Amino acid sequence: MKKILVLEDETNIRSFVVINLKRAGYDTIEAGTGEEALLQLKNNPDIKVALLDIMLPDMDGFEVCRRIRASNSKIGVIMLTARTQEMDKVTGLMTGADDYVTKPFSPAELTARVDALCRRIGDDSTPETVSFQQPPFVLNTRNRTLEKNGQRIKLTQVEYSIMKLFMENPGKALSREEILDTVWGRDYFGEVKIVDVNIRRLRVKVEDDPQNPIYITTVWGFGYKWDT
Ligand code: CA
Repeated sequence: MKKILVLEDETNIRSFVVINLKRAGYDTIEAGTGEEALLQLKNNPDIKVALLDIMLPDMDGFEVCRRIRASNSKIGVIMLTARTQEMDKVTGLMTGADDYVTKPFSPAELTARVDALCRRIGDDSTPETVSFQQPPFVLNTRNRTLEKNGQRIKLTQVEYSIMKLFMENPGKALSREEILDTVWGRDYFGEVKIVDVNIRRLRVKVEDDPQNPIYITTVWGFGYKWDT
């Protein structure tokens, strides 16, 4: 089981994160201060990903990140940021971190980010969970199937790839170009319109009312977003 360090001084947020990571098949190590986190990392060299809160009693999360990076370039780091106005600071100081999640975040969003980072880090011990559960949907990445309310939805390979991209990035606006690059590949020479065509078809399959989509929403002039 992959070990995740959760550094967060607010115990209710920490338990929320820990419960959801455990549910997703991860092992968790908890810390409430920066010093504690650094000590835990020393004692648990097999930690794969560290989730770092920014506002902490002894030092800020960026300092923790810097100290981790001073000796460890392999571990994945996700910052837990509190407010959107911190974003300038976050992006400026993000150099050592791999990703960030803005509070309040949904369990699905958090575990999707951790899953994605674990995959990017690349590891032989793949997590037990091979499915994305975002009610009413379950995407199984082992047999490449999608279920809605327990009912299998038949998808083409391209539709499946789009769904996987969506479910890995819940709540994130994805540009049509990004979807095209990820699903069709960078060397695809067709038009970006192909994305719209497939989205229209996907909506017929996954939405309750394809005319009024609530899961695959349009981000005008940009692309699409997966809302669950
Ligand atoms: Ca805090």
